[in-house]
Amino acid sequence: MELQHVQPTVKTPAANFTGDVYMTPIYRGTEASRMSVSLVRFTPGARTNWHRHAVGQTLHVTEGTGLVGTRDGSVVRVRAGDTVICPPDEEHWHGAAAGTFMAHLAMLENLPDGGDPTTWLEPLPDEQYQGANCSS
Ligand code: MN
Repeated sequence: MELQHVQPTVKTPAANFTGDVYMTPIYRGTEASRMSVSLVRFTPGARTNWHRHAVGQTLHVTEGTGLVGTRDGSVVRVRAGDTVICPPDEEHWHGAAAGTFMAHLAMLENLPDGGDPTTWLEPLPDEQYQGANCSS
Protein backbone atom coordinates (compact mmCIF):
# COMPACT_ATOMS: atom_id res chain seq x y z
CA MET A 1 0.00 0.00 0.00
CA GLU A 2 1.11 3.49 -0.70
CA LEU A 3 -0.44 6.66 0.65
CA GLN A 4 -0.18 9.59 -1.70
CA HIS A 5 -1.02 12.96 -0.21
CA VAL A 6 -2.92 15.54 -2.22
CA GLN A 7 -0.95 16.78 -5.19
CA PRO A 8 -0.65 20.38 -6.34
CA THR A 9 -3.53 21.76 -8.38
CA VAL A 10 -2.65 23.32 -11.71
CA LYS A 11 -4.57 25.70 -13.92
CA THR A 12 -5.34 24.05 -17.24
CA PRO A 13 -3.84 25.65 -20.37
CA ALA A 14 -5.82 28.40 -22.06
CA ALA A 15 -4.97 26.77 -25.40
CA ASN A 16 -7.34 23.88 -24.59
CA PHE A 17 -9.96 25.46 -22.30
CA THR A 18 -12.28 28.47 -22.19
CA GLY A 19 -12.52 30.13 -18.79
CA ASP A 20 -10.82 29.12 -15.56
CA VAL A 21 -10.39 25.38 -15.01
CA TYR A 22 -8.23 23.71 -12.35
CA MET A 23 -6.89 20.15 -12.41
CA THR A 24 -5.66 18.11 -9.47
CA PRO A 25 -3.88 14.89 -10.47
CA ILE A 26 -5.03 11.89 -8.47
CA TYR A 27 -3.36 8.89 -10.05
CA ARG A 28 -1.26 7.98 -13.04
CA GLY A 29 -0.56 4.29 -13.52
CA THR A 30 2.85 2.82 -14.13
CA GLU A 31 3.99 -0.42 -15.78
CA ALA A 32 0.98 -2.56 -16.56
CA SER A 33 -1.52 0.07 -15.43
CA ARG A 34 -2.43 2.77 -17.90
CA MET A 35 -5.04 4.38 -15.63
CA SER A 36 -5.12 8.16 -15.33
CA VAL A 37 -7.43 9.91 -12.87
CA SER A 38 -7.74 13.59 -12.13
CA LEU A 39 -10.20 15.92 -10.44
CA VAL A 40 -11.13 18.80 -12.73
CA ARG A 41 -12.91 21.87 -11.40
CA PHE A 42 -14.66 24.24 -13.80
CA THR A 43 -15.67 27.76 -12.78
CA PRO A 44 -19.09 28.98 -14.02
CA GLY A 45 -19.17 29.04 -17.82
CA ALA A 46 -15.79 27.35 -18.21
CA ARG A 47 -15.42 24.34 -20.52
CA THR A 48 -12.97 22.30 -22.54
CA ASN A 49 -12.24 22.76 -26.20
CA TRP A 50 -13.58 20.10 -28.51
CA HIS A 51 -11.38 17.02 -28.12
CA ARG A 52 -11.29 13.22 -28.28
CA HIS A 53 -9.64 10.42 -26.30
CA ALA A 54 -8.04 7.45 -28.04
CA VAL A 55 -9.22 4.95 -25.40
CA GLY A 56 -12.35 6.82 -24.32
CA GLN A 57 -13.00 8.61 -21.05
CA THR A 58 -15.31 8.25 -18.07
CA LEU A 59 -16.47 11.39 -16.28
CA HIS A 60 -17.99 11.25 -12.81
CA VAL A 61 -19.53 14.49 -11.59
CA THR A 62 -18.70 15.23 -7.95
CA GLU A 63 -20.14 18.73 -7.60
CA GLY A 64 -22.42 21.18 -9.33
CA THR A 65 -24.12 21.08 -12.72
CA GLY A 66 -22.37 20.62 -16.05
CA LEU A 67 -22.86 20.07 -19.75
CA VAL A 68 -21.38 17.48 -22.10
CA GLY A 69 -21.81 17.90 -25.85
CA THR A 70 -21.03 15.89 -28.97
CA ARG A 71 -20.74 16.74 -32.69
CA ASP A 72 -24.25 15.51 -33.50
CA GLY A 73 -25.53 18.49 -31.52
CA SER A 74 -26.72 16.57 -28.51
CA VAL A 75 -25.96 18.03 -25.09
CA VAL A 76 -26.60 16.33 -21.77
CA ARG A 77 -26.95 18.19 -18.48
CA VAL A 78 -25.15 16.37 -15.68
CA ARG A 79 -25.29 16.74 -11.92
CA ALA A 80 -23.30 15.51 -8.94
CA GLY A 81 -23.42 11.70 -8.88
CA ASP A 82 -23.88 11.33 -12.65
CA THR A 83 -21.39 9.40 -14.80
CA VAL A 84 -20.81 9.97 -18.52
CA ILE A 85 -18.99 7.41 -20.67
CA CYS A 86 -17.32 8.90 -23.76
CA PRO A 87 -16.36 6.20 -26.27
CA PRO A 88 -12.95 6.11 -27.96
CA ASP A 89 -12.40 8.90 -30.50
CA GLU A 90 -15.85 10.49 -30.07
CA GLU A 91 -15.35 14.25 -30.30
CA HIS A 92 -16.91 16.06 -27.34
CA TRP A 93 -16.61 18.91 -24.86
CA HIS A 94 -17.47 19.18 -21.17
CA GLY A 95 -17.76 22.00 -18.70
CA ALA A 96 -19.75 23.84 -16.10
CA ALA A 97 -23.22 25.07 -16.88
CA ALA A 98 -23.61 28.85 -16.95
CA GLY A 99 -23.78 30.33 -13.47
CA THR A 100 -22.57 27.27 -11.56
CA PHE A 101 -19.39 25.48 -10.68
CA MET A 102 -18.92 21.88 -11.81
CA ALA A 103 -16.29 19.36 -10.74
CA HIS A 104 -15.75 15.90 -12.17
CA LEU A 105 -13.36 13.02 -11.90
CA ALA A 106 -11.83 12.39 -15.33
CA MET A 107 -10.78 8.76 -15.77
CA LEU A 108 -9.03 7.52 -18.85
CA GLU A 109 -6.24 5.27 -20.04
CA ASN A 110 -2.94 6.44 -21.44
CA LEU A 111 -1.60 4.97 -24.66
CA PRO A 112 0.46 1.74 -24.43
CA ASP A 113 3.63 3.75 -25.09
CA GLY A 114 2.72 6.09 -22.22
CA GLY A 115 1.71 8.84 -24.60
CA ASP A 116 -1.12 11.33 -24.20
CA PRO A 117 -4.40 9.78 -25.41
CA THR A 118 -6.16 13.13 -25.83
CA THR A 119 -6.29 15.10 -29.08
CA TRP A 120 -7.25 18.75 -28.60
CA LEU A 121 -9.30 20.61 -31.19
CA GLU A 122 -10.90 24.05 -31.50
CA PRO A 123 -12.73 25.98 -28.75
CA LEU A 124 -16.49 25.75 -28.38
CA PRO A 125 -17.78 29.15 -29.56
CA ASP A 126 -19.73 31.23 -27.03
CA GLU A 127 -22.93 31.04 -29.08
CA GLN A 128 -22.79 27.22 -29.17
CA TYR A 129 -22.16 27.16 -25.42
CA GLN A 130 -25.07 29.50 -24.77
CA GLY A 131 -27.28 27.39 -27.00
CA ALA A 132 -26.27 24.27 -25.09
CA ASN A 133 -27.32 25.91 -21.84
CA CYS A 134 -30.74 26.72 -23.25
CA SER A 135 -31.41 23.38 -24.95
CA SER A 136 -30.54 20.99 -22.14
MN1 MN B 1 -13.10 14.53 -22.52
